Amino acid sequence: MRPLFATISTAALKHNLSVVRRHVPRSRTLAVIKANAYGHGLMRAASALSGAEGYALLELDAAVALREAGFGQRILLLEGLFEPRELPEIVRHGLAIVVHGRDQLRMLDELPPGAALEVFVKINTGMNRLGFPPAQFPDALRSLQSNPGVSRITLMTHFASADEARGVQWQMDLFERLANGAGLPASLANSAAVLRYPGTHRDWVRPGIMLYGCSPFTGSTGVELGLRPAMTLESRLIAVRDLGRGDTVGYGGLFAAERDMRVGVVACGYADGYPRHAPTGTPVEVEGRMTRTLGRVSMDMLCADLAGIPEARVGSRVVLWGGGVPVEQVAEAAGTVGYELLCALAPRVPVRERE
Ligand SMILES: *Cc1c(COP(=O)(O)O)cnc(C)c1O
Repeated sequence: MRPLFATISTAALKHNLSVVRRHVPRSRTLAVIKANAYGHGLMRAASALSGAEGYALLELDAAVALREAGFGQRILLLEGLFEPRELPEIVRHGLAIVVHGRDQLRMLDELPPGAALEVFVKINTGMNRLGFPPAQFPDALRSLQSNPGVSRITLMTHFASADEARGVQWQMDLFERLANGAGLPASLANSAAVLRYPGTHRDWVRPGIMLYGCSPFTGSTGVELGLRPAMTLESRLIAVRDLGRGDTVGYGGLFAAERDMRVGVVACGYADGYPRHAPTGTPVEVEGRMTRTLGRVSMDMLCADLAGIPEARVGSRVVLWGGGVPVEQVAEAAGTVGYELLCALAPRVPVRERE
């Protein structure tokens, strides 16, 4: 069997939820499990995170699957409904929806009175992606408040730079001005705001990435924030070869040996979700020792420098990320973020679950 597999630690997921709790003692948590729980498996993550008061995700079929599996917590659809015909299923399963635009408001005209639909009204405070612009918000809120099928309303916005120097205050000021006096609950904080801005916590927080043990901030790792990475991607060396000076490695011959050296061929490539843009020098662990990748990542394989690891041989364990190799550092080398690597874990990679 190909030696590549991912391990998901349910104990790490639980630990990370407890870290969220410690940061937000007075708020309720919507555990964000979109994108197959950031690659960790929807049902597995939902079970491990069942201490959360609710879940947030995008896909209606996944939300329904959660209900059918017996999860009774709040389930929020983060992009709301896309077509009117989704409404009956949303109501039947008691799902909550984000309402972010006028088209969705019109779809809610079909809502039967007594449907008891819970909505999170999204206000665009500067992200300029989804949400009612400030000028449209009062009308949108009035429309929802007068809709007899709507039972509960929470105000919501999303931060564009909670993980960066610009921060959240510029969006908070606008949110406060609009929400002021409405007397409605609010949901604002993503992981970065959970960690950095207690003033944003309010009624419901919406952490995603931190639940998986990954840092939302560039330049730091989840471990440094007290989190435990839930996913480990590991494989083995399937070949070892000796290169002489001038020999090159892989497609394009991007890496050329400056002296005699040993390289290991790892059973993991971009078709497994490893980033093709990871250049020579991306961290990787072989036989418990940190080393670097060499040359271009190919579809099913990549190469690792075995300098200083004389015990490395065919069958040596390789950690691509997780454990001693922070996914944040692999991502940074490849010009992306941990989020993308976790979500991109390919379906062909077998997943093992452990405590
Ligand atoms: C994905 C998402 C989150 C979670 O963000 P993290 O940075 O992963 O914590 C929160 N809110 C909304 C609306 C999202 O789309």
